[in-house]
Amino acid sequence: MHTDDSESSTNFIQNIVEEDLKTKKFEGRVHTRFPPEPNGYLHIGHAKSICLNFGLASQYSGKCNLRFDDTNPSKEEEEYVKAIMEDVRWLGFDWEDRLHYSSEYFDQLYEYAVRLIEKGKAYVDALSPEQIREYRGTLTEPGQNSPHRDSSVEENLDLFARMRAGEFAEGERVLRAKIDMASGNLNLRDPVLYRVLKVAHHRTGDKWCIYPMYDFTHGQSDSLEQITHSICTLEFEDHRPLYDWFLKELDIYCPQQIEFARLNLNYTILSKRKLLQLVQEKHVSGWNDPRMPTLSGMRRRGYPPEAIRDFCERIGVAKSNSTVDFALLEHCVREDLNKTSPRVMAVIRPLKVVIENYPEDQVEELTAENNPEDPGAGSRTIPFSRVLYIERDDFMEDPPKKFFRLGPDREVRLKHAYIIKCERVVKDEKTGEVVELRCTYDPDTKSGSSMEGRKVKGTLHWLSAAHAQPAEVRLYNHLFLKENPADEKECPDLGSSVNPDSLEIVRGFIEPFLKGAVGGDRFQFLRLGYFCADNESFTPEAPVFNRTVTLRDTWAKIVKKST
Ligand code: ATP
Ligand code: MG
Repeated sequence: MHTDDSESSTNFIQNIVEEDLKTKKFEGRVHTRFPPEPNGYLHIGHAKSICLNFGLASQYSGKCNLRFDDTNPSKEEEEYVKAIMEDVRWLGFDWEDRLHYSSEYFDQLYEYAVRLIEKGKAYVDALSPEQIREYRGTLTEPGQNSPHRDSSVEENLDLFARMRAGEFAEGERVLRAKIDMASGNLNLRDPVLYRVLKVAHHRTGDKWCIYPMYDFTHGQSDSLEQITHSICTLEFEDHRPLYDWFLKELDIYCPQQIEFARLNLNYTILSKRKLLQLVQEKHVSGWNDPRMPTLSGMRRRGYPPEAIRDFCERIGVAKSNSTVDFALLEHCVREDLNKTSPRVMAVIRPLKVVIENYPEDQVEELTAENNPEDPGAGSRTIPFSRVLYIERDDFMEDPPKKFFRLGPDREVRLKHAYIIKCERVVKDEKTGEVVELRCTYDPDTKSGSSMEGRKVKGTLHWLSAAHAQPAEVRLYNHLFLKENPADEKECPDLGSSVNPDSLEIVRGFIEPFLKGAVGGDRFQFLRLGYFCADNESFTPEAPVFNRTVTLRDTWAKIVKKST
C-alpha cells in the first residue's frame, strides 16, 4: 500500500544534496550528523531525524556522525548517552568511528570566544538575567544596549578569563555577542555565548565552570566536523542567521543548514521535557515503559526497528508542520509483524471447556504451522486433551445471529484441531456466571484430514488446560485519551490527561511452545494481536508478554474509505 506519492520521487532535502553534488559545492562530499542532547531518551521524532541523516549518508556514499550536544551539564547524564547509542544501533545505524561530543570542542570554543572579543564582537555583561530579558525588547519593540556593551577589548578579555577562573557566581557575568539590539530577529540581539555554571560535566568533570550556550556550540561543532548538510527542525530557521554570523566572524568552514518539519503524532507527546515529567511523576514505569513513544519503550513493546524505519520513509520529509496519525505507525508495525512473527495460541481470559466424548487420559500432539505468510517458518505441535480453555468472549449464552463463535447447540472449529459442539452450560450456583462448557467433538473433523472441509462459521483459538502455562499479559492502549496532548490549552496538566486504562494486566495462559521464548521475541497470538516477550522481566517460569498491537488495522480502513 502506498500512503504518499513521495515514495518513489526524491524529497526536497535529497534535491538540495543532489544539486550540491552536481555543482561540487562540498567537493562532492555528503557528511551529515545526528546531534542529540543527552538529556533524555530518544523518541520516535528522533527516529525521523536519525533515518534522514544516516539515510542520506548511505544513499549518497557519505558519512554520518553521532554527536552528543552536551553543553548543559545540569540536565545531562551518562545514562542518557548510553541509552541513545543503544537506540541508534537498534534502529540499524552505525556511526563507525565517528562518535563525537560537543564537549570535545570546549577548548576550541573558548578560543573562538576570545577571538570574537579581540575583534570587538563580544563583551562580558554584568546585567542580571532578568535585566538581560528586559533589555532584549519584544517582537514589536527594539531592545536597548547594555551599559557594558562598549567596554574595551582588554577589559573584556580580562573579565572573560576571570569568568573562566571561577571568580564570578552564576548569573553575575555572561559573555554576549555584539550584534544588533534592534534586529528584527531576536536571536541576533546580543545573544549570550557563555554562562557561569558551577556544575561538573559528565565528560569534562570540574575542568570548566563556564559553559558555551547551545547556539554558540552547535554550528561551530558542525563546522569543526566538516559537516556538509546540517539538517535540523524548523524552530532553528530563525537561528540560522546567528550561526552564519558566528561562522563568518570566525572565518571558518560553513556547512549548509537545512530545516525540515518535526514529526508530530496524535495521542502522544514528543518532548523530552514532558516525557521526563511522566517518568518523574511516575505516570509510567520509566523511559522504557511500553506506552512511551521512546525508542526503548517501542522496543520493549515489540515494535520492530524495520517497521519504524518504514514509517519514517512513508511520512516523508516536508517543510511545513503537520500531525501524523498514530494508526499509520501501528499499520507499519503490523505489516512487518505479519510477515515475520510466528503464530501461536494464548488464552487471556479463560473459560473451561470439557470435551465429554474425548478419553480422559488421551493427549494428541497436533501439528500447527508457525506462519502461513512464511513457508520457511516450519511447524510445531500442540497438545489436545479432554479439558481445554477457550476465550471467555468467544462464548455467548444467548448469541445474536451474526455471532459466529460458540453458543448452546452451536458448532465451531478449534484451530488446528476438531469441530466441537456446545451441549451444556455449567453455571456458578450463586452468581449465575458461566464457569464451564460441556462439549462434544467430532473425531472425523481433525484439521488436515479428509473431513476437515466440513464447514462451520467460526474458528477459535484454545489451549489444553493441563498443558497451558500461566502468563502475565499486559494490554496497552494510548497513553493519552486526548488527540493532542501536546497542546497545553487542551491539556494544561499532563498527569491528569494520562489515560487511566492505558495499561490492563491480565493473567492468562500460553501454549507450552512459548516456554522457549526469550525476552524480545515477537509472536502473533491468534485472533488476539501481536505480543512481545517483555525484555525486562520475561522468564520461562514467569512469562510476561506485552501487547504490541491489536490485529484491527484502523489505518488500512481509513485509507480504504478515502480511495
Ligand atoms: P525535544 O523537543 O524532545 O526535547 P530536541 O530537539 O530538544 O527534542 P535533541 O536531542 O536536540 O532534542 O534532538 C536531536 C535531533 O533530533 C535534532 O536534530 C532535532 O532536530 C531532532 N528531533 C527532535 N525531535 C524531533 C521530531 N519530533 N521530529 C524530527 N526530528 C526531531
Ligand atoms: Mg534540542
